[in-house]
Amino acid sequence: MIDEDRGADADARTRVAAAAVAPGQAAERHAPADTVAPAPGMHGPGMHGPALIRPERGACRWQDVVPMAYKDEGSAPFRDVSRQVLFDDARMGCELRYFEVAPGGHSTLERHQHVHAVIILRGAGRCLVGDVVAPVAAHDLVHIPPMTWHQFRAAPDQPLGFLCMVDRVRDRPQLPGPDDLAALRARPEVAAFLDG
Ligand code: MN
Repeated sequence: MIDEDRGADADARTRVAAAAVAPGQAAERHAPADTVAPAPGMHGPGMHGPALIRPERGACRWQDVVPMAYKDEGSAPFRDVSRQVLFDDARMGCELRYFEVAPGGHSTLERHQHVHAVIILRGAGRCLVGDVVAPVAAHDLVHIPPMTWHQFRAAPDQPLGFLCMVDRVRDRPQLPGPDDLAALRARPEVAAFLDG
């Protein structure tokens, strides 16, 4: 079943890639002026406000966006994940973050009431959503409904970078207890995923 899914995904990705890249688009992407003067009265470290346009500086690193720890060390199990907050405007109900899991790393296995809307930007890996395990790669979409166990794992030889849109005001993630883990592990493909 997973192999069939992988085949369908690959076909879909090929079609998306062919449709998405128009002539000149790649050049325009890096064409904007270096920075635009920030609007006065807004917050931001060492400036009056965030630049309106922040070019990419390196692979999924952006000007004036500082990579942060994914979570407080020791607060939950994870390995090799960085977090960048790309958009956090109090006038919007949502926040957009970029997470990158280094090769062989993984995010926390967790669930919560708030929803995640995820777009894979870079690399490859696998994700668990509920009792579904699936391969993911650039431009795939992952919807994580409320109170659904989820985890992202990067491939051994590739990072897994993804955008994650989330409510600005949200509940704290819950970690699985022994009964939750036993229920998840009842499915062999989930147990294999959790074991890395
Ligand atoms: Mn989550």
